[in-house]
Amino acid sequence: MQLTEIPGVGPKTAALFEKLGVKSCEDLLAYYPIHYDAYLPPVAVGTLTPGAKCAVRGMIARAVVVRPMGRVTVAVTELEDPTGKIRLTWYNAPFMRTVLKRGQEYVFRGTVAIRKGARVLEHPEVFAPDKYEEKIRTLVPVYGLTKGLSGNAVAKAVRWCLDHLPHDQEYLPEEVVRVTGLLGERQAVEDIHFPENEDSLQAARSRLVFDEFFLFILAMRLLKESTADIANAFPMEMGWEIEELIDQLPYRLTAAQERVWHEVEADLGGSRLMSRLIQGDVGSGKTVIAFLAMVMAAQNGYQSALMAPTEVLARQHYEKLCKMKEDFGLASVRPVLLTGSLKAAERRAALRAIESGEANAVIGTHALIQAGVSYKALSLVITDEQHRFGVYQRKALTEKGAPPNMMVMSATPIPRTLGVIYYGDLDISVIDELPARRLPIKNAVVGPGWRPNAWNFIRKELTAGHQAYVICPMIEANEELEAENVIDYSKLLRKEFPDHKVAMLHGRMKPDEKNKIMAAFAAGETHVLVSTTVVEVGVDVPNATVMLIENAERFGLATLHQLRGRVGRGDAQSYCIFLAGQSSEEIRERLDILSKSNNGFEIAEKDFELRGPGDLMGIRQSGEAMFRLADVSRDRRVLTLAGRMAADILHDDPALLGDEMTGLRRRIRAYMAENEGAVIL
Ligand code: ADP
Ligand code: MG
Repeated sequence: MQLTEIPGVGPKTAALFEKLGVKSCEDLLAYYPIHYDAYLPPVAVGTLTPGAKCAVRGMIARAVVVRPMGRVTVAVTELEDPTGKIRLTWYNAPFMRTVLKRGQEYVFRGTVAIRKGARVLEHPEVFAPDKYEEKIRTLVPVYGLTKGLSGNAVAKAVRWCLDHLPHDQEYLPEEVVRVTGLLGERQAVEDIHFPENEDSLQAARSRLVFDEFFLFILAMRLLKESTADIANAFPMEMGWEIEELIDQLPYRLTAAQERVWHEVEADLGGSRLMSRLIQGDVGSGKTVIAFLAMVMAAQNGYQSALMAPTEVLARQHYEKLCKMKEDFGLASVRPVLLTGSLKAAERRAALRAIESGEANAVIGTHALIQAGVSYKALSLVITDEQHRFGVYQRKALTEKGAPPNMMVMSATPIPRTLGVIYYGDLDISVIDELPARRLPIKNAVVGPGWRPNAWNFIRKELTAGHQAYVICPMIEANEELEAENVIDYSKLLRKEFPDHKVAMLHGRMKPDEKNKIMAAFAAGETHVLVSTTVVEVGVDVPNATVMLIENAERFGLATLHQLRGRVGRGDAQSYCIFLAGQSSEEIRERLDILSKSNNGFEIAEKDFELRGPGDLMGIRQSGEAMFRLADVSRDRRVLTLAGRMAADILHDDPALLGDEMTGLRRRIRAYMAENEGAVIL
């Protein structure tokens, strides 16, 4: 249904929605809030800390005074409870004089600031105590917004869709609903937008997360069915070139790399097709394993393909492989780059070389498995950082010849038991050791007061010829959420660093635009990159030596660790500054884990212990992760459940042919169609 069917939504508003990627009423229902604002019980005035959004209940101690201040007026009064007093101020709100009665009790909700050394609650919302009581524990959805579109407008439009769009029938087989006790899908969608309380939000989230995992796992199993246990049509032998190459590398492989390489080598030389996941923390050295496998394929007269999540990364891999070929005289390796942005003539030449076998080490984005690419003897497909993609497509590749060996490389730290559920019966190799680094990243956890120092620090690094990342949780300003955003922040930094080029990057940009921006940063043409978490996987810019993460408290630790992996890739000392917009003991304790550990797996475990699945602090940007809501580490219980249900169903009805599977069948078909661009093993 078209958005303009919604009362109050005209073409102008519809265009704004489109900017957010919302093109229809169905899209709108799937445009989940990025955050929820909670009305928490009032706290004592004596315990208020700066930066925290909170409610206080107390008596108005003095009459409201309205004073001019420059071009605005400021209304001031004071609130008192048994533990202390705090000043309250409102700008351009002279009516507060009549709203607030001295000696009366109210609840005020706002953020505490420090002004001239004293605590102030600035522009707080005002409630009668009984009205606030009613609101306590309710959650208000916060949506990703764009200029001209208010949170209220989005919420209203969503409400209308919930009330007027026809209900889909439950697609899950009755048995699954019964065994899992999950909420109905429709109810879950309603509650993810407008949860009555935290419990109903968790229940809604569980159901939708279940769906994401369940469909993913089923789709994967169904695709795998057709290629499971197939003989390896490309048996390889290990030749002298690789032994020599390993000896000549500028570094010694770590013991873990060596172990994993031997596992890969054994697979490639074996009689069954390889399906292997290489899991290794950022910087553990996965790329070289991929290159060795590609060299081995080339030596044996076969082709291989390496697929990266972004063009920039593909180009970087390509350049590294070319350099390796040069440095070590690898005559049998003939690399070619195939990405979406090649010029028509270049693309034609690349395609011809791939078809004739003249090129045998193909590196690119998912363009390299799209229609129109045919290989002569594709023996091996490697997917780098697959969690950006999803995993289909052995099928797409196999339609043209014998199915290739598959290798997936991922930095997402998931425990082995979960890996098995998530990736099916994929073999898993873990690189559980980092190369000894000369200079580990230096970390700092600081508060907003330290921001000027952080900027000065960045300026120093820039002046020394280095580059910097700044990460913000939001794309655009949001009236309902106090958190830094990429658009305003990059404007601010352009003023702050007039001698350097500041660029911005976020998930709402078109892929082409994102590529250009990342490429310019990688080439050193821009110096500061202000970005959301889209930058998490993607570029290798050794010259970037500092990362400042704003509102670090709004991210999961695993994400922060991945982000930090963008720096510390060159020879110079690198730094990561975690700036917490709110400072509490709890937040500091959580962030301090990052200073103490550099082990992604350990960090993800600690994060899970501390936050669990119930965390409401985080901000999620839509379209920046593989799943809408699900998080492999955080939602492990639901993942396990989804894995069990999928296995049960397939055990009883491997092709989903039963009558009670009709809805599920239809849904999976739609899911696979939707994810066609994705690469699922
Ligand atoms: P990731 O696992 O995150 O993909 P990369 O493969 O990009 O990591 O490796 C990160 C850096 O470490 C690269 O510059 C690479 O050359 C280097 N590297 C890889 N293996 C080793 C090693 N055994 N010793 C020292 N440096 C290594
Ligand atoms: Mg990598």
